[in-house]
Amino acid sequence: MTTYAKQYYQAHKGEFATKRKVHYQLRKEEELATMKIYYQNHRDDILAHTKLYYQANKGDRQSYARKYYLDHKEEERMKRRLYYSLHKNESKINNRQYHLAHKEEISTQGKQYYQTHKEDIKEKGKLYRQNHKEEIRAKKKAYYLAHLAENRQRNLIYRESRRLDLKQLKIKVLTHYGNGNLVCVKCGYSDLRALSIDHINGGGTEHRQNLHRGNFYHWLDEQNYPNGYQTLCMNCQFVKRSFNNELINPREVK
Ligand SMILES: [Zn+2]
Repeated sequence: MTTYAKQYYQAHKGEFATKRKVHYQLRKEEELATMKIYYQNHRDDILAHTKLYYQANKGDRQSYARKYYLDHKEEERMKRRLYYSLHKNESKINNRQYHLAHKEEISTQGKQYYQTHKEDIKEKGKLYRQNHKEEIRAKKKAYYLAHLAENRQRNLIYRESRRLDLKQLKIKVLTHYGNGNLVCVKCGYSDLRALSIDHINGGGTEHRQNLHRGNFYHWLDEQNYPNGYQTLCMNCQFVKRSFNNELINPREVK
């Protein structure tokens, strides 16, 4: 009999296992459904209880959570990183949406946090910079070297455009005060490099010293070309100053 039962079990092993599985699945569904109904009927009770329990054990739970975090720091960090890399786009969109919806709140919170932790933050930053001196220097250097060509090109373009702008402005202003021609109003000399603006009634040096080099042309343009100025070449300016005894060092022309 025993042998027969054993034989029967062996022959129908798979069948039995499936039956057990099905039975378990059916009970599982049933149990879950019962629990769900119970939860729905006692929801407020359960929530209140949970809250009470949480409040009563808050310190414990927090310290436990902290301990757990410290014990599993790297693990948790890896998990977060993995999760983020798997849900990157999703996370990004979610973060952005959250940020947009809570913009004011986040900004205020951040400001408040900074105000209350100002010294801490400063101290931490200082410490970090002290402890990572070499690292920071290396990073800066690497960044500088990686962007060297780019920076040089940008600076070159910027300087060139500034130079062109200034040249165009100079031509515009000198032409206006040359009575419509880019020439010295006294002798007709026309080389841009030797032309500049003269205060007809003097006082130019002082005025020009109050403005930066080049800004004098900007100033005239901004003031919409006021009267009292003329375009002169350096020769004519020199002669005029000598005549008016306006030279900075009169001994030079004895
Ligand atoms: Zn001249």
